[in-house]
Amino acid sequence: MLRVTIIGAGVSGLACAIRLQELSKEKNLPLELNLLDAGPKPGGTLTTLEQDGFVMEEGPDCFITEKPAALEMSKKLGLEGELIRTNPALKQSFILKGTRLYPIPEGFYMLAPSRLMPLMTTPLLSPLGKLRAALEPFVKVRRDPQDESVGDFVRRRLGREVLEALAQPLVGGVYNAYPDDLSVNACVPRFKDMELKYGSLLKAMAAQRLRSQNQVSGARYSLFVSFKKGMQTLAAAMAAQIPAESLWLDSPVQALKPSDHGTWEVTAQGRAQEADVVVLAIQPAKMQPLIGGLDKEWEKLLSAVPAHDSATLNLGFRRQDLGHPLDGFGFVVPAKEKKLIVGCTFASRKFEGRAPGDNVLLRGFLGAEAVKEIKTQGENTVMEKILEELTPILGLKGHPIVHHWASYESSMSYFRPGHLSQAIRLEQKASETKGLYLAGNGLKGVGVPDAIAAGQSAAEKIFSSK
Ligand SMILES: Cc1cc2nc3c(=O)[nH]c(=O)nc-3n(C[C@H](O)[C@H](O)[C@H](O)COP(=O)(O)OP(=O)(O)OC[C@H]3O[C@@H](n4cnc5c(N)ncnc54)[C@H](O)[C@@H]3O)c2cc1C
Repeated sequence: MLRVTIIGAGVSGLACAIRLQELSKEKNLPLELNLLDAGPKPGGTLTTLEQDGFVMEEGPDCFITEKPAALEMSKKLGLEGELIRTNPALKQSFILKGTRLYPIPEGFYMLAPSRLMPLMTTPLLSPLGKLRAALEPFVKVRRDPQDESVGDFVRRRLGREVLEALAQPLVGGVYNAYPDDLSVNACVPRFKDMELKYGSLLKAMAAQRLRSQNQVSGARYSLFVSFKKGMQTLAAAMAAQIPAESLWLDSPVQALKPSDHGTWEVTAQGRAQEADVVVLAIQPAKMQPLIGGLDKEWEKLLSAVPAHDSATLNLGFRRQDLGHPLDGFGFVVPAKEKKLIVGCTFASRKFEGRAPGDNVLLRGFLGAEAVKEIKTQGENTVMEKILEELTPILGLKGHPIVHHWASYESSMSYFRPGHLSQAIRLEQKASETKGLYLAGNGLKGVGVPDAIAAGQSAAEKIFSSK
């Protein structure tokens, strides 16, 4: 009998548990599984709230289909019929400048353009900024294998303005961190590959655009998908695979100690449990108090993968109370605009079924700075400030008819320059520690598919030695 305790029942811990159960059957090795979570429900950040016909996402509102793990999991759980695509009638998202929303220049993806003309005509850049970006193909290739920050990379190739007006809000929105704190090799490796292979991001992106134009279209899924009833559909279906006696909710693990006979003692709610194997399916920042004290290197490696706080604010309005046509998926806000809100999704435009009748649902995303304000001034004050921010941008004429806050402590790991070698060492360190495995979103990627893949990979490793 193999006794496995998983700490964290987010999608990573759930995926690990599901794969462990499958492997236990395949290999005919009995398993005693305990999945512990600090919170009252499984699924971690995947929570959807239905209120007055509004379907509000507290955490992630979709996942990317290019990385297969979440899509494959959905299919395996029979959720294919529940999947919904992003609104095919909408083609754009916006960036805020002042109080106006400007479309992201066509063909601009994350931090580089595939077409020069839309970049040359956007009001988001000055003539000098445009000239600097147009010189990108002539910028010398950096072949130094040493990692660099996303900020340095974009400044070097496309100039400061492209970084501040476009790349910072787009990349920053995904990682909830500033580009100068993010690793190129870990966060946007394909752009580094483009520089090395093509000598220019513009040339590489243009070649990629031509290739995709020549491909027969008709992909089955859009790049991002969700579920008719929201992302909790996935979390609930995954949790339904775990026997009730294995799932321990409201059970924050307070201590984790190796025992003298090669097992682990897991303490939750003052009660100690013994396990042969422990999987930490939580952010490295949250592993720190549990295993950071094992030795100095653990402490150093775990503190090298920080995580910021974040919050979301769902706002349901009557359509007539908004002056903007909401003709896109939403907008992101450059840091230089100094707003509380980092991004705003036009949720009921992005996915169908999110708002009842003639109403609309917006969802604001807030970073660590705003969370600090919530803590000191309270949600109501911060909401009023956000509504003030949104009023000139979206032409708000009234108060929301529904609103809902959610906040997350250290839930979004981000990858600093040098992350890849740190992550490799972290995994090595875990493999040198008997019965200890790592999962979650702090190792290889920060999205839902990455977290699922990390959980599955931990399960495979546990059984590979059996
Ligand atoms: C606001 C927000 C929006 C996001 N948007 C997207 C998006 O649109 N698309 C996308 O792909 N990704 C998005 N992400 C990222 C994505 O949600 C996460 O990467 C993914 O869900 C992480 O899953 P996880 O299981 O690793 O961690 P989590 O979901 O954080 O789950 C970890 C679980 O561990 C529990 N836990 C923590 N410490 C302990 C302890 N000591 N003892 C017991 N239990 C513990 C927590 O209660 C939690 O339930 C978003 C994240 C946030 C916060």
